[in-house]
Amino acid sequence: MRKAVCCTRCQSVGLITYMRNGSPRVGLLLLCLFVVPGVLYFLGYFLSGHWGCNTCGSREVVPLLERESFQVRRMQAEERLA
Ligand SMILES: [Zn+2]
Repeated sequence: MRKAVCCTRCQSVGLITYMRNGSPRVGLLLLCLFVVPGVLYFLGYFLSGHWGCNTCGSREVVPLLERESFQVRRMQAEERLA
């Protein structure tokens, strides 16, 4: 199950998405034309991915629940100070 996250870059809230660099079509084409570069491309394709923002692809995302609990704790701390 994908986690709900909040992006610290674009401030959007959404489900975390696995981002891959490159496209499998290019890999298949390379594989048909030249076997070795195609294999290397696919290796890079499968190893280079990362989890990121659904909207902008940024890695700078925080889990929604943690962020909310952080905000609640900060509000409680501010209340205590006031
Ligand atoms: Zn984003």
